[in-house]
Amino acid sequence: MKRAIPVVCAAAIICVLAIASGARAQSLWDLAHQNKDALRIATLFDARDVQRRLSTDQGIDDAIDWCKKTGVTHAFIESFRDGYTAERKALEHARDRFRAAGFDVAGCVTPTKVGKDSTGWKSIACYTDEPTQKHIQEIFEYTASMFDEIMIDDFWFTDCQCDECRKARGGKGWAEFRCDLMTQISRDRILKPARAVNPNVKIIIKYPQWYDQFHNRGYEVVRETADFDRTWVGTETRDYADKQWGGTVQYEAYYIMRWLGVIGGAKCGGGWFDPFGTHEATYAEQARQTVLADAKEMLLFCYGALQRDTGPANVAKLRTEIPDLFRLARLVRNQPLRGIAAPKPPNSDAANEQYVYDLVGMLGLPIVPTNEMRTDVKAAFLPVHALKDPQVQTKLGTMLDAGTPVLATDGLARKLPPALADNKNLLVLPVNGKPKGLLDLTREQLKPIREKLLAPLGLGFDAPNKVALYLIGDRCVVVENFNDEPITATLEFAQPVKPAKTLVLPVDGQAEFSSEAGKIDFQKITPRTLVMLTY
Ligand SMILES: [Zn+2]
Repeated sequence: MKRAIPVVCAAAIICVLAIASGARAQSLWDLAHQNKDALRIATLFDARDVQRRLSTDQGIDDAIDWCKKTGVTHAFIESFRDGYTAERKALEHARDRFRAAGFDVAGCVTPTKVGKDSTGWKSIACYTDEPTQKHIQEIFEYTASMFDEIMIDDFWFTDCQCDECRKARGGKGWAEFRCDLMTQISRDRILKPARAVNPNVKIIIKYPQWYDQFHNRGYEVVRETADFDRTWVGTETRDYADKQWGGTVQYEAYYIMRWLGVIGGAKCGGGWFDPFGTHEATYAEQARQTVLADAKEMLLFCYGALQRDTGPANVAKLRTEIPDLFRLARLVRNQPLRGIAAPKPPNSDAANEQYVYDLVGMLGLPIVPTNEMRTDVKAAFLPVHALKDPQVQTKLGTMLDAGTPVLATDGLARKLPPALADNKNLLVLPVNGKPKGLLDLTREQLKPIREKLLAPLGLGFDAPNKVALYLIGDRCVVVENFNDEPITATLEFAQPVKPAKTLVLPVDGQAEFSSEAGKIDFQKITPRTLVMLTY
């Protein structure tokens, strides 16, 4: 026995050391598996990368290693993009290797350079053209023969105005014609033939980030969401200041993810963002916005792009946040939102108020994205999009008569009869046809707007512009500073509260506050930092 003890000890020590080093090397991979019920992380190998990076076992080993270090447990392996079809042998071998390594594996199709060119957007096709329709059908039959799940990247639209399209359009407007066309060929050329080849196949329609233009190019979120098995959401906001890719505010990822989440319900699978025009801080913000908006999955587009330019630094930053993103996903999962109802009816025209919802979110107004205008809300924000609802005036009248504060854009207010436009409960937001100009409103100018709209929620909020506020569930609030400078802010509750800091991102972000009775004073929130408090 005595002699055995050192042996046991040595073995135990070796064993403990092996577990410790193994845990370090595999921690994100293990953590990702433990948390994939709350948030699954995915990446895409595009068709060219199947050829370039997944056609040798060494290339596949490298890809698997990168995925494991990034917490990626879901691999999308693409069969078609830009007129290029990946080889069956390479696709099947990569699929089987990833499956054997413990991944969930799916296919993907990017419908670019499919056939007859559109007269508009480069790489987009004319889908009135019969041979082009036949070709898209062949692509999906081919892919469905290998995969039980297929994502369609967000080029499944058309903006063609060729003679053939003009003739086919007849008396319809372009938006109506394209929505009807894309819905019909989705059924006839994708869903039906793919299911005939593989009865188990689930097909995901991924909606682009440009939601105010969907219907104009034939994305129809009502019928297509009903027809497809799953939906996905483009949350690639990138860097607002980037010369090539910029101009989209961070709140957009949150708005669209929530809006399509309401429309898709259980079908809504996740969000998708990329590294283009981003650096570490703006890249990680996309992940935070996607998860904060209750996405069940985030797809990092794409393996190849993440190996170059700012990709590696972005991924290194994201890896530090992944454990907290898992926590964030659990904290927001299925929690009802409180705040200011912000309905965008499907297929509504934005006129010159494009993406104004995102800008209003940047003003520190806790909006609740929705597809339907309801009157039983505590406060509402209505831009010109609301005109899509034939009952807009009646509904607005009901709200105003009930004392509900409504923030209407000047564009909508101009379309209202005086009885509504002059109502004391209607507050007019001066957009002047330039939604981005809202980012210039000062803290002082924002004060009366916030005061009026937050009063029925029993809340007061004061902060500079570009500081977002989210009210999640009954006892949780998130404040997010999108500025490049530190800020101060105050939150005032009608009731006394005992706030506790639940989560701060990035991991080295700071959010210092003091609290007394119902008032929370943030002395400092560092740049581009999200803080969640529970109370
Ligand atoms: Zn055409």
